[in-house]
Amino acid sequence: MSSFKHIIIPVFLNNSGCPSGGRCVFCNQAASGGEPCRADSLETYLKKYISDIDKLNINNIEYTFEIAFYGGTFTALDFERQSEYFDAARAAVSETENAGHKKFTGFRAATRPDYIDSDILSFLKANEVKTIEIGVESFDGAVLDAAGRGYGSKTAFDAAVLIKSYGFKLSLHLMCGLIGQSRDIFKKDAETLVAIGPDYARIHPLCVIEGSKLGDMYKEKKFTPRPDTELIEETAYAMALFELNGIKVIRAGILENDNFRKEVLAGPAYANLREIAESYIHGAVYDYIREKFERGRKILISAGLEKTLNYLIGYKKINIKKNNDLFLEFKNKMLYNNERIYYILISAENNEPTYALTRPDVLKQYIIKF
Ligand code: SF4
Repeated sequence: MSSFKHIIIPVFLNNSGCPSGGRCVFCNQAASGGEPCRADSLETYLKKYISDIDKLNINNIEYTFEIAFYGGTFTALDFERQSEYFDAARAAVSETENAGHKKFTGFRAATRPDYIDSDILSFLKANEVKTIEIGVESFDGAVLDAAGRGYGSKTAFDAAVLIKSYGFKLSLHLMCGLIGQSRDIFKKDAETLVAIGPDYARIHPLCVIEGSKLGDMYKEKKFTPRPDTELIEETAYAMALFELNGIKVIRAGILENDNFRKEVLAGPAYANLREIAESYIHGAVYDYIREKFERGRKILISAGLEKTLNYLIGYKKINIKKNNDLFLEFKNKMLYNNERIYYILISAENNEPTYALTRPDVLKQYIIKF
């Protein structure tokens, strides 16, 4: 619980509602280590979760919270079962309502595009669902087929558009590295997502999970994953593209769960994947330096924030190692100029010329070269 401002309380359904016998080839929700949360134990689970938050929140700092149904296909459950979950959650929430420092803001439901229609959306609207998360994974028909998703690209596109038309907040999930999903296909997937314009996105580079169909194929040498570096580059590309288009990336990488990470047979299952991808993005700054400065001059690089400086240096100093032919000096301090903090300032040793880069400048530089 990193912040008391807004907290998402996850309720994991572990494949509940997923089409029977048709589990997607990359998926094994059971590997997360937990039992699916049943409706009859939800009230107890939530009361404990909320009470644990309050124990940490010793100063009663005001916060809002929502309850999210993840890890299955929530809207494929019949309305009666969905109602059991909503009712149990409301029973837990109603006990907290007298405590003025916290406010329940609604539900969030994760599902698949083929379990979205007008009836379902009307039902969700009537039950205080505010955000719908759709595991689209790709908009390419052949990639969806190979992943065993059981729907086509039009279904994915139409579902997203319909959700938006009902006024829900929309989160779309994309994967990279799926069977047959080349870099060009992934770039088109990312562009399609931008064209739809969801509020949020999650990017999941493929990790091969023990117990999944893909895990079996991998062990039988029928599937070879693409190198981690390629998938991190694609994750970085999508992060940059989405941010430039006002889409908030709420996750890059697999589920934040160490048990789950232990079940990964192959793929970039790094806990700090997002920071690694940021290193890749900031590697583009060195292309800019090469374009702007003569070789052999000492280049001074400053950043307004320490984390930006860390991205510039790179995960395990990757950017320094890649550019060890440049004569670089880093300044680790906040920079003020007419009260403005620069994202990155680059100059030669005699301070002429000096270039100021904004974060969008850096994101664009990475995308252009991709
Ligand atoms: S990826 Fe989503 S829809 Fe497919 S089996 Fe896993 S939880 Fe169900």
